[in-house]
Amino acid sequence: MPLQRSVKPTLITSVERAAASAALGCSPWELGLCAGCGQLMRRHGRYAAMYCAVCRVELNGR
Ligand SMILES: [Zn+2]
Repeated sequence: MPLQRSVKPTLITSVERAAASAALGCSPWELGLCAGCGQLMRRHGRYAAMYCAVCRVELNGR
């Protein structure tokens, strides 16, 4: 049985955090984890949301 390499989104480096904030167009402190899938998204600040765009589409489709 192969070892499963689990992804830990909370353990990102400062470089990854800076890249994510640049990609999302927000400050690093605005980054947070999606309540649905746990990926990095804009979780704090002016355009904060509980879920990322992917999860929101899924929730709206239900
Ligand atoms: Zn999500």
